[in-house]
Amino acid sequence: MRRNLAECLLELVQGDITRQQVDAIVNAANSRLAGGGGVDGAIHQAGGPEIMAETNRLYPQGCPTGQAVISTAGTLPARYVLHAVGPMWKGGRQGERALLQSAYRHGLQLALENECASIAFPAISTGVYGYPVDRAATDSLEAVIDFLRERHAPQRTRFVLFGPGAYGAYCRALQELLPE
Ligand code: ADP
Repeated sequence: MRRNLAECLLELVQGDITRQQVDAIVNAANSRLAGGGGVDGAIHQAGGPEIMAETNRLYPQGCPTGQAVISTAGTLPARYVLHAVGPMWKGGRQGERALLQSAYRHGLQLALENECASIAFPAISTGVYGYPVDRAATDSLEAVIDFLRERHAPQRTRFVLFGPGAYGAYCRALQELLPE
């Protein structure tokens, strides 16, 4: 599913983020940048040890929740990995929405600062961090749409959803936010 916002393309695909041919892929990292399972494990496994070596060297203090940092993409097809830290879901009244939206905005901002024309995001926080997928879909798409409307870049933003459940949830949310 895709939508055009002025000169920007926003698309949703089902797939594996490590396979995306884009300038930057986004990792759903933890604040210690310590690696983990899920999409984080897949990115480090596919990109090789260079990614962790660089994040350890450049960001020994980690990355606060709601923010993002940049590293090499190692052997992945992308140029960069942006490590964005989403919130853990704690019922919805602990600022989760603002933190999730901030993580997406920081990722997009870093992409622009590093001249990336294309970026791919996973469904940050919807795995181990427990953010309900329907809400994550609405909250994250809203943040991305607002950013694209304001900044008119990057040219191409892709959400890579792992499995039909997440893909369906993001399609429904996008249809609500930007009906055809
Ligand atoms: P978090 O800790 O932020 O919840 P997870 O990695 O546990 O991060 O999950 C985030 C989302 O990434 C989940 O929807 C999960 O299904 C998805 N995911 C896992 N592996 C991949 C992959 N290779 N490509 C894209 N998405 C993935």
